[in-house]
Amino acid sequence: MKILIAEDDTTSRLLFAATLKKLGHAVTAVENGHKAWEAWRGEAHPLLISDWMMPDMDGLQLCRMIRAEPGLQYTYIILLTALDSKGNYLVGMNAGADDFITKPFDEEHLAARLRVADRILALHQKLHIQATHDRLTGVWNRAAILDHLQMELKQAAREAAPMGVIVADIDHFKRINDTFGHPAGDAVLQEAARRMQFALRPYDRIGRYGGEEFLITAPGCGWGHVATLAENIRNSVNAAPIESQYGQIPITVSLGAMIGGDRGEDAGMLITAADEALYRAKKAGRNRTELALGHSGQQI
Ligand code: GH3
Ligand code: MG
Ligand code: MG
Ligand code: MG
Repeated sequence: MKILIAEDDTTSRLLFAATLKKLGHAVTAVENGHKAWEAWRGEAHPLLISDWMMPDMDGLQLCRMIRAEPGLQYTYIILLTALDSKGNYLVGMNAGADDFITKPFDEEHLAARLRVADRILALHQKLHIQATHDRLTGVWNRAAILDHLQMELKQAAREAAPMGVIVADIDHFKRINDTFGHPAGDAVLQEAARRMQFALRPYDRIGRYGGEEFLITAPGCGWGHVATLAENIRNSVNAAPIESQYGQIPITVSLGAMIGGDRGEDAGMLITAADEALYRAKKAGRNRTELALGHSGQQI
């Protein structure tokens, strides 16, 4: 587990770090609350062990700041304290701590506390995956991909660099259901999602937006890039019929693509524009990509 330690006392910090490393954990150890805050913001650490009393920013303040951030992953926080009266315990809990360790610590005790943290984090992780992923295809679900799009749009506006938004809809999917049956349709959706994902760059994301419709977010894309990406997705999907227990099922997809975010366009505007392009792709015969109106004449 990746553990972040914030402790101003050098001896205690080194001792904690050494013990945790010996227990097999990856450790980042810093000497005050500010540095811990920076480290936590820079990289997800599922577990924070923080001293309570530290100069500048103390453990309580660090706890409150972390709890105020709407992070996707839960951070389990253990406060270190030499103060173990009931009153302090409540103050720590109210600030957002999950557990306490009194100094000087006992190694066995620490290992047991970490097992509890691990159990809770594993459960949280499982629930988090269930809450953010589509059960059938394993890609992001609608709510999660929309949340992600919002985040990417903020980034695009900050950097004044457009991002790509692609809507992909499987062609004549109803016919697949009608011809091969609903379970075959499900298998096709799974394989189509896998093929689309295969065509993405590491930082692109795909989510199931509706029944047989997918939304792809592609940071740092101009018209040329988004067109290429959409075509890669299309070619990945239609490369070969899907081999299923229900037979060979040919499949194609139509895509609509839009770029923006650099000039404050919101998610709704971009999706509507990509949808409008998708509609044109369907009208023009399917198995093709159309760019939203307003692009400067890129050829697909
Ligand atoms: P078009 O090329 O115009 O997109 O035609 P289409 O047949 O793909 O579109 P339409 O909207 O008419 O039909 C989509 C179908 O997708 C209808 C719905 O029953 C089916 N569908 C939606 N979700 C699921 C699912 O989870 N599993 C299966 N098997 N079918 C689904
Ligand atoms: Mg201290
Ligand atoms: Mg369709
Ligand atoms: Mg559809």
